[in-house]
Amino acid sequence: MEATKISELRRALEQRQTEIQAEVDRMGDEIRSIGQDQGDEKGSLGNHFAEDGTNVTEAERLSTIGDDLREVLAQIEGAIGRLDDGTYGACQRCGKPINPERLEAFPYVAYDIDCQTILERENALRAGR
Ligand SMILES: [Zn+2]
Repeated sequence: MEATKISELRRALEQRQTEIQAEVDRMGDEIRSIGQDQGDEKGSLGNHFAEDGTNVTEAERLSTIGDDLREVLAQIEGAIGRLDDGTYGACQRCGKPINPERLEAFPYVAYDIDCQTILERENALRAGR
């Protein structure tokens, strides 16, 4: 891969990394502030059940999104590492080149579509789904 292409990719990945990290931080703050609200309401008249339920669901939703984002962050980090060691664009499972259109859409993917499908199936089986 050309050096200019590599630095271009690296810049794009690093920018994505910064954006996602900011989003993760923002969500952490939001989750904490939800927790705070609940703490403040403790000892009140107890007519906040519905509201508390909503907050718990919201906190769970945010933390699920946060987990997904952290997963993407790890993938981006891996992709930057692969740019460094020159294995970027090769499937980390079978070593075949990843479809360029797939890389274009998801520059941080580590596997080609076949391996991704297999791995997802294996994960689903392991999780007992
Ligand atoms: Zn593969």
